[in-house]
Amino acid sequence: NLTQRFGRVVKNLRGQAHLTEDNITDMLREVRMALLEADVALPVVKEFISRVKEKSLGQEVVGSLTPGQALVGVVQRELTELMGGASVALNLATQPPAIMLMVGLQGAGKTTTTAKLGKWLKERQKKKVLTVSCDVYRPAAIEQLKTVSAQAGIDFFPSSPDQKPADIAAAAIDYAKRHFYDALFIDTAGRLAIDTAMMTEIRDLHAQVKPIETLFIVDAMLGQDAVNTAKTFAEMLPLTGIILTKLDGDARGGAALSVRQITGKPIKFAGVGEKLDGLEEFHPERMASRILGMGDILSLVEEAQRNVDHDKAQAFAKKMKAGKGFDLNDFKEQIGQMKKMGGMAGLLDKLPAQLSRAAQQAGGAVNDKSMNRLEGIINSMTPAERAKPEIIKATRKRRIALGAGVQVQEVNRLLNQFEQTQKMMKQFSKGGMQKMMRGMKG
Ligand code: GDP
Ligand code: MG
Repeated sequence: NLTQRFGRVVKNLRGQAHLTEDNITDMLREVRMALLEADVALPVVKEFISRVKEKSLGQEVVGSLTPGQALVGVVQRELTELMGGASVALNLATQPPAIMLMVGLQGAGKTTTTAKLGKWLKERQKKKVLTVSCDVYRPAAIEQLKTVSAQAGIDFFPSSPDQKPADIAAAAIDYAKRHFYDALFIDTAGRLAIDTAMMTEIRDLHAQVKPIETLFIVDAMLGQDAVNTAKTFAEMLPLTGIILTKLDGDARGGAALSVRQITGKPIKFAGVGEKLDGLEEFHPERMASRILGMGDILSLVEEAQRNVDHDKAQAFAKKMKAGKGFDLNDFKEQIGQMKKMGGMAGLLDKLPAQLSRAAQQAGGAVNDKSMNRLEGIINSMTPAERAKPEIIKATRKRRIALGAGVQVQEVNRLLNQFEQTQKMMKQFSKGGMQKMMRGMKG
């Protein structure tokens, strides 16, 4: 997939001592192939490659960066730009209720996303949220919104298939005003393909309800088709943003890379799972790092923040910032945190490829059970050993193994694994620490 391919390019690049027109061209050919394979639109690829080439040839190599790293930096920055540069927040700046019109093809994820985003607004921004369905073609669609709204803990305004969408919308807006709702989500009917009847209906609805946000929901797995549909919708309706759904299933990543460029509309959120908390704010910079296989440290930190003791997380960041070493106590802390975050599986793809590989090599299967064993081993160490792992020689190893009920090899493996992680942490504390700190404060 795209990340794996880029991973290889990045690895090659890092090894290059000098950037020449020749090796840049080689590398860019790889990047170009990777993008095309990921189903990114050709004009977008061409533009991207020419920008990277221009920037990297003019690139001053600064500080400790090798030319290869500098080029990776250029690729990452340009990927970020391609996806819009900065993230764009949901607009709520209006007389309440802020009306959110949810549009898109059938099966795109409008109804699911309505509940997800409603939940997000309620939980993160303490908003009072109402939903309503104008999908009068399928009775099941209204029921579905009712069900997911209840699951999301947000209110639902009933409608029925024998009503007109315009009347439903008018009644819901009236109700939302009288009951002081902050936001009203209007879920609409989609079709399998764009047709005039649907577009007319949505345009009329749009003119009537004057939404602050008109969000186009699109299935990222459709690749270039997703992008083309988005373009057509954007030409016919003043969209304010795009929500890419099913990014969890999109191995190729093409839609995320080209939809912004082709439509000019910002991607505001990404759907990353069927469950109602499977929604993330879209951050171009993080997405670019993820695509490049650098792992999504910022998301990890945020996730950690939600799931672990905030003070401990900050103390950890402070320690890292002060340049103090990462020791086995921190390692143990992290293992505990990983367990809190719901096991390794979800985390592995967020960790930088290198780190997860190290963990896998060192520990065999990475799962909660092996995490428990690691924790057990660290528990058998003295505080001094945890703080200064280099003092752990043969005798100490035997004692620790005995105490934890494991073989000495396992202690060795853990120490190896720790050492590799420590190396990674050192790398992060050089480049990524400031970003990480910003994330921690957030
Ligand atoms: P609508 O026709 O546009 O209202 O689409 P639905 O909300 O009914 O969603 C269609 C299907 O896509 C459902 O089975 C959803 O569970 C699924 N779905 C929606 N968003 C996501 C997502 O981000 N990830 C995954 N894996 N599935 C999703
Ligand atoms: Mg629906």
